[in-house]
Amino acid sequence: MKIYLYGVREDEKGYLKEWHNAHPEVTIDYTNQIFNDDTVDLAKDATGVVFLQTQPYPRTALKKLHDFGVSKISVRNVGLDGFDFKDLRDYKFSLTNVPVYSPNAIAEHTTGLMLRLLRRVPEFDKKFNNTDFSWFPTIGEEINGKTVGIVGTGHIGSVVARIMMAMGAKVVAYDIKPNPYLENLGVYVDSLDEVLAQADILTLHTPLAKRDVHMIDADAISKMKDGAIIINAARGGLIDTDALIAALDSGKIAGAGLDVLETENDVFQKKFNNLEEVKDPQFKALLNRDNVIITPHTAFYTTTAVHNMVFDSMTDNLKMQKNEQPKYPVDINVE
Ligand code: NAD
Repeated sequence: MKIYLYGVREDEKGYLKEWHNAHPEVTIDYTNQIFNDDTVDLAKDATGVVFLQTQPYPRTALKKLHDFGVSKISVRNVGLDGFDFKDLRDYKFSLTNVPVYSPNAIAEHTTGLMLRLLRRVPEFDKKFNNTDFSWFPTIGEEINGKTVGIVGTGHIGSVVARIMMAMGAKVVAYDIKPNPYLENLGVYVDSLDEVLAQADILTLHTPLAKRDVHMIDADAISKMKDGAIIINAARGGLIDTDALIAALDSGKIAGAGLDVLETENDVFQKKFNNLEEVKDPQFKALLNRDNVIITPHTAFYTTTAVHNMVFDSMTDNLKMQKNEQPKYPVDINVE
């Protein structure tokens, strides 16, 4: 058995070695390149492949993979947008992903964004850069006693709820499918509007379904408390960025912590020489505000998460090859 991996980063290699030590019977090989027509030949003698990429998986390359006799594909992340499932059905592939690698990674990052805003860390950073080491008058606020509104209480949102409760916040949550654990704690309200009306801090943890694009638009913001803050570590498209910028300008919204942005592909994971080179007007309008913290879609990026992405994808690929039930099979018959 041989598993070939594409798109391998330096930080994944140690975990790959660790996994290999536990499975010496499997040959593994990898490239840092992504999977496409130019690189498919690298997997010629493999029996399974493991991918991680945001670019599409070309049908022509998948056909070649099939012709090589590879039928097991695993991805090391959640996202499956790059596949046309018809290609996978036509070439009889089985597929796994890693839908849950560390909800705590994102929940802790969310908490960090809240704390950094409430304790005015960007302003302290500026003061320190200015050799001003004073605390007055940069007074902060506490999570304890605040009402935290959580939209979406799945894997990540439910961890955020537990952290917030442990910190003394009142949690109000809305989910189209409430979970029994949080239901027993009585945190749910019946609508998004109720969360908007009550939250001092609003945090989003839903996927980006078509109906939820711009869930937080000017109308939703108008229903929020004056001076509320908004956190988004879910998907950029959930917020109408222009409406958020207007609300920050007017003071209606007192702060925003954003790990994801509508136009993040234009800026995140890129290195520019200076700000002039950055063309995205929304990003520039949000940058360098004392009350906005932007992180480059890094909430997931912890050693625990990367370990789990490597281990779960590799183990599932091996299980499929041994005709055992994988932990995270993907049904490629649904579109
Ligand atoms: P999940 O599927 O476990 O939970 C999502 C929850 O949202 C579900 O309970 C669902 O019922 C609920 N929901 C869906 N639509 C809703 C709506 N319109 N109103 C209210 N509730 C709704 O997902 P998860 O693993 O917790 O991920 C949550 C979000 O975090 C996703 O958008 C995911 O893409 C994102 N994410 C971000 C990062 C990052 O690095 N920033 C990493 C992983 C996941």
